[in-house]
Amino acid sequence: MKFCSLYSGSSGNSLYVEGSHGKILVDAGLSGIKISTALKQIGSDINTIKGIFVSHDHSDHVKGIGVLSRKYDIPLYMNEGTWNGVKGNIGKVKEDNIRLFENGGLIEVEDLLVKTFSIHHDAADPVGFSITSNKTKVSIVTDTGIMDEVIYDNIKGSDLVVMESNHDVNMLMAGRYPYFLKKRVAGNKGHLSNECAADTVVRLAQEGLEKVVLAHLSEENNFPQLAMETTSNKLREHKLDDCVCVEVAGRFSPSNMYNL
Ligand SMILES: [Zn+2]
Ligand SMILES: [Zn+2]
Repeated sequence: MKFCSLYSGSSGNSLYVEGSHGKILVDAGLSGIKISTALKQIGSDINTIKGIFVSHDHSDHVKGIGVLSRKYDIPLYMNEGTWNGVKGNIGKVKEDNIRLFENGGLIEVEDLLVKTFSIHHDAADPVGFSITSNKTKVSIVTDTGIMDEVIYDNIKGSDLVVMESNHDVNMLMAGRYPYFLKKRVAGNKGHLSNECAADTVVRLAQEGLEKVVLAHLSEENNFPQLAMETTSNKLREHKLDDCVCVEVAGRFSPSNMYNL
């Protein structure tokens, strides 16, 4: 399997997952042009994408899904809540390209097996993903206020985890966001802090996780280096820093291409 984060953050998200045959995107929260350009940059091609999986109905995850589906005839996979949230905003999409799933179910796209699970966020019906092909597993959890045992059980045993590391709690609280927004971001249906991300990464590393991509960083309440240090320091405290390779996904530039 191959994995690459094309874009990550509140300015737009799109992740690329490639199996031995199937190629999919998780979210397409930027213009169609930006996403097809990034795919070219990593040596892939939008024409080969067999589906776009949508985590939730916020614009930083769905901005390009309508145009990409129309232009390249790509199926869109999402649950009914997300579909109800986006259908008024993404233009006309071919009925056959709307593939609704139930959370918790398995969806097959060529050799990729995609499992969805509920996360905690102020969207219609947000989900995370774990994607497997030939015993290799990649999991994706962004836009969740909390990490619970259901999420943890879904992502454990992965070869690579994309983990939200949205904000530093102190920066958020001392920052210029209005109180209601601070409460929203830090709340149970907001975004995962650097500290929560680090704790989860340590726990996963204790069970053998070797690759982590920290993702969906806040532009206002975080720095890439701070997210990286919070997780690295905690891994070091547990003497796990030699076992895990950590990268922070770029806002506007593709991450490393992972060959898993
Ligand atoms: Zn988001
Ligand atoms: Zn969101």
